[in-house]
Amino acid sequence: MKLICIGRNYAEHAKELGNSVPKEPLFFLKPDSAILAHRHPFYIPDWTQDVHHEVELLIRICRNGKAVQAEFAHRYFDAISLGIDFTARDIQAEAKANGHPWEKAKAFDGSAVISKKWFPVDSFTEGWESVPFYLEKNGEKVQSGSALDMTHHVHALIAHVSKYMTLKMGDVIFTGTPAGVGRVEDGDTLEGFFNEESMFRVNIHGT
Ligand code: ZN
Repeated sequence: MKLICIGRNYAEHAKELGNSVPKEPLFFLKPDSAILAHRHPFYIPDWTQDVHHEVELLIRICRNGKAVQAEFAHRYFDAISLGIDFTARDIQAEAKANGHPWEKAKAFDGSAVISKKWFPVDSFTEGWESVPFYLEKNGEKVQSGSALDMTHHVHALIAHVSKYMTLKMGDVIFTGTPAGVGRVEDGDTLEGFFNEESMFRVNIHGT
């Protein structure tokens, strides 16, 4: 399976990093080796001084699809969850400055937190898009949003990504992060909430 991550999908977050809001979705991949095992701490790698948390809504792909049209995209995902796209911001800045790919900054071991809990899309009678999510760092709310704040809706994301690569059952899309990203330090605890439920709790260990 692959993890497809969307960049700059919330205008306020693009602004906080001094980036423009892209006209079409921007995406990159993480390998499955990036997934942080459940209940495991996150160890800050020794080659970065600036790892940021990015809390993100996750969608689970439930059937294979290529060149999916946006109007049919709802058939290709069946569940919603929450995760973190850990990012080595210093390494990413270096890559951006040099026009290099982002993998070192984004695809490293442990960089993808995926909650164990998945909510079926059809379990939300009012629609899942308006359900709020947020991240607490050491008990303080640092990031919050809902899918309604996205620049590119999930259906548009599926249409765009599947134009270039086949989506496969079990793939997960990280749909981008709202404003409030920040550095993690040794001893921090991150806890994510969606639909008023705690979705994950990750302890940060320095090196
Ligand atoms: Zn992200």
